[in-house]
Amino acid sequence: MGMTMTQKILARHAGLDTVRAGQLIQAKLDLVLGNDITTPVAINEFEAAGFDKVFDKSRIAMVMDHFTPNKDIKAAAQCKQCRQFARKFDIDHYYDVGEMGVEHALLPEKGLVAPGEAVIGADSHTCTYGALGAFSTGVGSTDMGAAMATGQTWFKVPSAIRVELTGTLRPWVSGKDVILSLIGMIGVDGALYQSLEFTGPGVASLTMADRLTISNMAVEAGAKNGIFPVDDVTRAYVAGRVDRPWVADEADPDAEYTRTIHMDLSQIDCTVAYPHLPENAHPAREGADIAIHQIVIGSCTNGRLEDMAAAAEILRGRHLARDVRGIVIPATMAVYRECMKRGYTDIFLDAGCIISTPTCGPCLGGYMGILAAGERCVSTTNRNFVGRMGHVDSEIYLASPAVAAASGVAGHICHPSDL
Ligand code: SF4
Repeated sequence: MGMTMTQKILARHAGLDTVRAGQLIQAKLDLVLGNDITTPVAINEFEAAGFDKVFDKSRIAMVMDHFTPNKDIKAAAQCKQCRQFARKFDIDHYYDVGEMGVEHALLPEKGLVAPGEAVIGADSHTCTYGALGAFSTGVGSTDMGAAMATGQTWFKVPSAIRVELTGTLRPWVSGKDVILSLIGMIGVDGALYQSLEFTGPGVASLTMADRLTISNMAVEAGAKNGIFPVDDVTRAYVAGRVDRPWVADEADPDAEYTRTIHMDLSQIDCTVAYPHLPENAHPAREGADIAIHQIVIGSCTNGRLEDMAAAAEILRGRHLARDVRGIVIPATMAVYRECMKRGYTDIFLDAGCIISTPTCGPCLGGYMGILAAGERCVSTTNRNFVGRMGHVDSEIYLASPAVAAASGVAGHICHPSDL
């Protein structure tokens, strides 16, 4: 029996010729990631275990993004602890205010993840890097603490679901609509502890931004990871970013999948996940009677330059509806700078939006756009759980940047073509 793409990466990192689903393995890691919320806990575990050195200072990344710039004294103390640890061990990839971005947008942008690599992060959306053909997944802070010392961790090898993509996306439809549609089909536990392996002729038409968004939300279907094959789009993305050798793994022809899901990209339309689960997917066109109070465009899911471009295209020459607040958060400083160069920041400001420094901010209810009871937000983030962005009686509608921007202008959920 052959191996899936994920299993091949895990086997190589475990030093084994072959692995099978359900097998427990010890694997070497190419990168260990933490943020300002999870790293302090990992540091405490690292120190409590008596470790006094890290396995490789060039293979640890710490990104201060969740409550940074610090929203309160506790957040400041957490970042201070991370900063001191990073300085003590001379961590190469420590990103603080002025350099940081939302971690899962920043790491690919900086070339810190390459195809065929194995990455863990103390953050559930670490699965984002599957877009590059890497195995990456979220872990707890204790595992991060141990991995910072040993450079290894254990995995139970996942089985896999094959997602066969055909066709090409229609105008205004993006990777966000693909993954919301898929989660709508299989549910938030539809891929529990499995790999979602995307394949088929439709993959080639998806941009790297589309793939990063899709892999980012694999965990919202319960998946261990979501992974794409390495192709010309991948090679073009890593060129100039990654200067170390990397491996393009392919699933064996006889790899075993628990099921195959077929998705025709040309049949997908703009999709919105209503409260309070990402599986609650509805066509954007059906939301005209849902008045909204805020839009958020940003996050590790949709804060990249392509997302800003889509929002700017909608907002150019338009203004938000009277009772809608618009919050735009470029995910990294490079995205922020490019938005200024391209005139997007002027477009956003003219439309009545504010533009924030990179941060997770409202995505997890931290700051920079918390909702009051009864308020509704169309957000390009990845979770719409009860109270995620504020009051337990507020509502989050997950959508693409184009749909969020169009909804902000219309004052209700709106398909971009209907503006
Ligand atoms: Fe997590 Fe949201 Fe930050 Fe992404 S943007 S890392 S989902 S808090």
